[in-house]
Parts: sequence; C-alpha cells; structure tokens
Amino acid sequence: MDNHPNDPDHVPWYFRSLDFEQLWRDYPPPPNFFHMTARLSRDELRARQEQRFLQTMKRGWEIPFFQRHWSEHGMEPGDIRTLDDLRKVPVYDVHDIRRSIERNPPFGDFMGLSPEDGKRLPMVLQTSGGTTGLPRPMLYAPQDRETMAILGARRLAMHGVKPGDMVLVTLSLGLGNGGMAPREAMWRYSGAVPVMTGSGANTPTRRQLEIVKAWGIKVLLGFPAYLRHMALVARDEMGIDPRSLGIRLLGTHLGPEQREPLEELWGAKAFDMYGTHESGMLAAECSHQTGMHVMEDAFHLEIADPETGALVNDGERGTVYITTLYKYGAPQIRFNVNDISAWHTTSCPCGNCMRRLKAIFGRNDNMIKLRGVNVFPEAVGAALLEEPRCNGEYFCFVDRVGEAGTDQMDVWVELIDEHVDRTALQADLERRMKEVLSVKVKVTPVGRGELDPYTQTSKSSKVKRLLDRRHTTSS
Ligand SMILES: [Zn+2]
Repeated sequence: MDNHPNDPDHVPWYFRSLDFEQLWRDYPPPPNFFHMTARLSRDELRARQEQRFLQTMKRGWEIPFFQRHWSEHGMEPGDIRTLDDLRKVPVYDVHDIRRSIERNPPFGDFMGLSPEDGKRLPMVLQTSGGTTGLPRPMLYAPQDRETMAILGARRLAMHGVKPGDMVLVTLSLGLGNGGMAPREAMWRYSGAVPVMTGSGANTPTRRQLEIVKAWGIKVLLGFPAYLRHMALVARDEMGIDPRSLGIRLLGTHLGPEQREPLEELWGAKAFDMYGTHESGMLAAECSHQTGMHVMEDAFHLEIADPETGALVNDGERGTVYITTLYKYGAPQIRFNVNDISAWHTTSCPCGNCMRRLKAIFGRNDNMIKLRGVNVFPEAVGAALLEEPRCNGEYFCFVDRVGEAGTDQMDVWVELIDEHVDRTALQADLERRMKEVLSVKVKVTPVGRGELDPYTQTSKSSKVKRLLDRRHTTSS
C-alpha cells in the first residue's frame, strides 16, 4: 500500500527518486563544497574525475547516439580505460545533436531518455534559447536536475550571495532554463529568496525597479545588456540613482563585456559565470573576480584549437570541449560547445583548487569573416562601453554591397541623448572600431530605443547583436 515500484498504479515520487545524502557527499552543496571538494589536491580531484568519467563512458555506450558516433570512428567498448584516453574520443557539436533530432523526432536519440521513462523517473523538460524554429528540448532526470541545482548554488555562494538575501531573477521564465535553474538552485541550496520577475517581457522594467526598491532586493541576476537597460531606466526615466537602491552584487554572464561600466552604474560588484542549458553551471567567479572556477568534480573541460582540434597551451584561446561527470540523461562526452575561452595559468588566492577559465570571449560560430578578418560582434560591444556618448546598445548588420560584392559591416549604436554631435561621434567610433577589430566598419548613430526591435533588449534575456544578410540578399 506504499506506492511500490512493482505496483500497477506506481507513480515515481521525486523525493524517493534519489539517494540525496549520497548525492550531497558526491557533489557537495555549499558550505560543504568549500571545505571538502574545493580543498582536494589535484591528484585526488583527478582520481575522482577519472572514476566519474569511466562511469559516464559506460552510460554513453547505452545511448544510440554515442554508439553510432563512436562506432563510426572505429571505437569499441573497453578502448577507453583512463581519463588520458579521452583524447581518443571523437568530438561532436550541436549539428550532430540536430541531426540526431531529425533522425528521431522530436527528442533525438542522444539523451538515453524519453518521456516514456516518466513511468520510472520524474523528469522536467527545458530547452535551448532557440532563435529560429523550435528550440532544442532537453529532459532532465532527478540526478541531473538536482546536481544542477547544487552547482548553481555553489555559483551563488562563490559570488557572495548569503542566506536571507532577496535575489531578483530577470532571466526568462518559460521553455528556456534561464530563470528556472537559478530558482531551483537558490531555493534548495542557498537560503536566499528568489524573486522571479523574469525578463522585461514578463514584468515591465519599471515594475522590476519598484520591486527592487520596495522589497529590499540585494542581488540582481541577469544578462549585462538587461542590467544596464534597467539602470538607465531607473536613472533617466524614473529619476532614481541606481546606486541608491543598495544592490550589493550582480550575477551575470559578462563574456567579453567590461565589468567596470556595469559596476559603476549600480555601485555593486559584478560576477561572471558560464553555464549552458545542456550542461548546467560550468564555472563561476569567486570574490576575487579573477576568472571562473570550473566545477571540476562535475565537468572535465578541454580547450582546443578550433581548426585542428589539438589542445592549446594554458593561457591560449581555443574552443571549449565539455565532458560531463554527473549526468545520467544526455551526458556530454567531448561536446564542442563552440565557445572561445582560455585557461588561467595562476592559482586563485581564495584557495579553491578548481582551475579557472578566463572570460568567454565569444562564440566560434558567431564569429564572422569580414574581408578576411575574424570579427566577434561581442568585441564591438566591449569597445562601445568605453564611449560615454553611447548607452551601450548596438546592433551589427553585415551585407555584401556594390558590384564587387564587398563585405561591409554597419554598426548601429544608440546615443545617450539627443544632444550628441552625430558626425563627430561617427568619425571617432569608426576610428576606434578599426583599431579594435583590425578591419574598417561603418558606424551609424541612432536615437535611444531605436535598436530594440533588433536586439529585443527590453523583452528577451537573450539579446541579439548581429544580422548577417550576405547569404539572404544575394542569390
Ligand atoms: Zn577563487
């Protein structure tokens, strides 16, 4: 009479689906993490990674996607015996995942889970951000989702979020994981209270600011573009100095953006992190703000040359390969996520043994070739933040123009107000962009708010920065 798995009417209860005590020993949440896993020697950590990696390989061989991918590359079960053998495992990327979904719609065969498994495991579904078409779905088993909550809570604790803090989450609430994952992390393992306003489309920005003021919010989570937008709405539209609101810290994904202008606006420290919907929280900055500690008991990361696939030396830039060490559903084993980063070469004064990534400098597939030069739109944004006559909003159009078919990038930038001399600004910025990007681009100043239809800053937590029209306008 107690909902036994063999009963014909069995329902899988979440809180019976895991040995929670064991999970907390394996992947300790704060504060235990800081006393235990973060203090391991590199050898102890490596041994733990290796054991979890071999388990993950075993799981991989149960999943059709990996069976096919590995067999096509001549791999057999038993070929991989140590973590050093990881280099023999063939890499894959999001295109392989898309093909897996096309082959076995709608969920693909890369997860080793389907909604049918709900008979034995309670699951949740969330998706990638998804820019065009249907977003990519991901099913999370209890092991996956609960560990993600632990990793998310470690991130908050590393930033300095404390029990009792009120935290405003300005990330999207819906199919994407943006707001959902931090809510679970915060509520279960941080003692801080999540206040889920969501993006500007869920709760208007003015209302978000009223809530910050009225409820004594201490921490903001969101993308830099939206946090900047919020500060400007407070200052310029509501006559509130954002610094007077008493925000203590900003948890964000800085990427190549500069920290200082955002910290200056809010009078609060801004912390970088790196996470994806497939992997969860990969890395986060500690109070020293010197790069992001990777959660190395849950991931083994490699950084490789995007052209050759050879691992780069510490300190050099390359594309990130992810291997998850905690996932049951959709494990990732040498997944080329196409984000560009580099390892820090020094240890951190905080004493956490986990290695640090420098910032995520951009996306390899977001990179465009402009007259033979590699350009990341993010680099435009970083340069723009030094310009006091602009508010930081920008959008890049790339076109093929003239009979010769020359590639041209036109960077539209929003003015801080209507009194700015547009001609002078244009000339200054075109010179500056040439220095930063090593290629000439056109700059077009526009009025405040005019770029919103392109960037979606006020509505979406995932801001768009680039439209490449070279292949749509020419035949
Ligand atoms: Zn540190």
